Amino acid sequence: MDFIRDAIRTIPDYPKKGIQFRDVTTLLKDARAFRAAVDQMVMPWAGAKIDKVAGIEARGFILGGAVAHQLSVGFTPIRKKGKLPHRTLIEEYELEYGSDAIEIHVDGVDETDRVLIVDDLIATGGTAEAAINLLRRAGADVVGATFVIDLPDLGGAKRIEEMGVPVASLVAFE
Ligand code: 5GP
Repeated sequence: MDFIRDAIRTIPDYPKKGIQFRDVTTLLKDARAFRAAVDQMVMPWAGAKIDKVAGIEARGFILGGAVAHQLSVGFTPIRKKGKLPHRTLIEEYELEYGSDAIEIHVDGVDETDRVLIVDDLIATGGTAEAAINLLRRAGADVVGATFVIDLPDLGGAKRIEEMGVPVASLVAFE
């Protein structure tokens, strides 16, 4: 797991002073680390009968597409407000650095779908919570959420587990 951790770059004071931004672009460009990260993100859900991956914009698209391919299931995008062309459901949420809103197509998932959420990082869990709310409003069963990075000090994974959604991650940063 160390080489996955080592492939993640830390940018101090981005996007504002005092924030240590964990940059996964260095992991994504490293074939071995990218492959291993996707393999390990998939592993906990092997027997979970996932029907669809929901990836959160933007890095959740890159990782989620690879995870969906590996699970041989479909992919649905959860996007920032105003980007999806068809009719949507929308959820407002608090972000680590402000507030925002995300959307899913009304027909992005089926009511019978068992869905796995994928993103690069969980911090406060606000984004993942909004994604779960969207998917549940669309009728889907959210089976789990999987991340490369957890920031446990910010309590996001605990918050999501309290919603009844198991969380998996590969590396933690204090
Ligand atoms: P949360 O909603 O859990 O507080 O924040 C998680 C969301 O913000 C994720 O979509 C994630 O991509 C983004 N994010 C917050 N902090 C970081 C960071 O340090 N590095 C990266 N790569 N993404 C971050």
